[in-house]
Amino acid sequence: MTVYLVGAGPGDPGLLTRRGAELLARADVVLHDRLVSPAVLDLVHPDATLIDVGKDPDEDGDARQEEIARLLVEHGRSSAVVVRLKGGDPFLFGRGGEERDALTQAGIPCEVVPGVTSAFGVPAAAGIPVTQRGLASSVTVVTGRVGEAGAGGGPDWEALARAGGTLVILMGMTTRGAIADALVAGGRAADTPVAVIERGTTPSERMVRTTLAGLAAVELEAPAVIVVGAVAALGAAVPPGGPAGPLAGRTVVVTRAGPRARGLVEALERAGASVVELPLTRQVDASDGGAALRAAAAGVGDHRWVVLTSVNAVDRFMAAVRDARALAPVLVAAVGPATADALRMAGVEPDLVPAEHSARGLVEEFPAADGADRGVLFPCAQGAPDTIAEGLGQKGWEVQRVEAYRTEPLATPEPALLARVAAADALTLTATSSLRAFLALRTPDGAPLPVPAHVVCIGPTTAETARSAGLAGVHEAWGASGDGIVAELVDHFGPEGGGGS
Ligand code: SAH
Repeated sequence: MTVYLVGAGPGDPGLLTRRGAELLARADVVLHDRLVSPAVLDLVHPDATLIDVGKDPDEDGDARQEEIARLLVEHGRSSAVVVRLKGGDPFLFGRGGEERDALTQAGIPCEVVPGVTSAFGVPAAAGIPVTQRGLASSVTVVTGRVGEAGAGGGPDWEALARAGGTLVILMGMTTRGAIADALVAGGRAADTPVAVIERGTTPSERMVRTTLAGLAAVELEAPAVIVVGAVAALGAAVPPGGPAGPLAGRTVVVTRAGPRARGLVEALERAGASVVELPLTRQVDASDGGAALRAAAAGVGDHRWVVLTSVNAVDRFMAAVRDARALAPVLVAAVGPATADALRMAGVEPDLVPAEHSARGLVEEFPAADGADRGVLFPCAQGAPDTIAEGLGQKGWEVQRVEAYRTEPLATPEPALLARVAAADALTLTATSSLRAFLALRTPDGAPLPVPAHVVCIGPTTAETARSAGLAGVHEAWGASGDGIVAELVDHFGPEGGGGS
């Protein structure tokens, strides 16, 4: 019964507010613009309804806007937590004010959660301060509309030219030539520095530095921020990410996204790598809508052991169990530290975490069946390898596999992102499902995507699958965690490793 107007920030999910992230995790319905990055949408709870209201921010159709207002009111009436997710800040060129008014008129409570606007956040992340002592004492944010100045039309470019200071132009890519002409006609020097930043703070960010005279010829695409003024020349020499780490100059692909990827991405960035995030899969309900899992969870006390091999399986299984006390008569095994931590978060201390964090390690350390008539419950992903079921079967256990979730491939990534992936130094794989989704990727001309020369897999199963799929340069992480992956990469690429194999 409340609609939250949430600013998604410019793209990097790290730049979303904590309030925004919390609302995405508990929303029933999320209506988002096309501009909102996939990495932010990844923070939406898997059970929520995600609606792309398809508004292209560079066109502003009044009809489309009316339709959005109608959808907001409709969902606001029927669902408890509705999030209207808008790129950047919801009130800066987002028509957020109109949407708020439509909700208020319909009597639906509305809370506004501000966001980091692309107008300031994108230049800042690229090293450009929008004001700087001695260079610019004011900054003006304008839409790139060109036409008659005033209420319905575009800004008064000549007045803006006279005002000086920094000019940040949004939605200005199609009119960039005309804008440059109008600013020069108004008195700004043709050699005024200009920076154009496309898809700032996302994996496909591109930046071009030029001058007003060169703006028309810049070959970047919307969405982009155009910064005009002396400050646009700043920051070029600052290496992003500060002092060089052992992976400085290396580009590493991370094939998952969302909160689970943060640890790995941050560990890589701390080591100096530049990270390309390539979300490939998402987890959804089992094909029966979770009925088998709920039934298995209701009868969990009939088993001697529950075996869990992923954080996802823990989340889904514990949600189905609902009350941790139901596990009192049961022993619980976790494949590795991340799965064990997820269990602890749910109030369950695992009885077995093998020293080797893999399905194989778990089977090895698992006790032999003790003649008890109770078997092993194994809630896992659809299509999960048979290592556990077969291995425990050989130890005399009766294993009941139950499908806890499915992993689905996401839509094909943008060509610019695919090009960065193909050019990267290393690829990291944290699940066989990501490996399969990666192998299914095609370049725009339909060829298989080139695989980076060095491939690090989180465990032996993924590594073996990668090798048998014909991948070269496959290595295993030094431990089943982000740090274990980084350790392998530093060993391979670091100053001493020297890049040899
Ligand atoms: N409310 C948004 C702006 C919406 S208008 C905000 O506060 O950021 C849409 C325009 O924002 C785009 O045309 C582009 O100029 C700019 N924009 C949004 N995200 C961007 C990004 N990641 N990189 C560059 N420009 C972006």
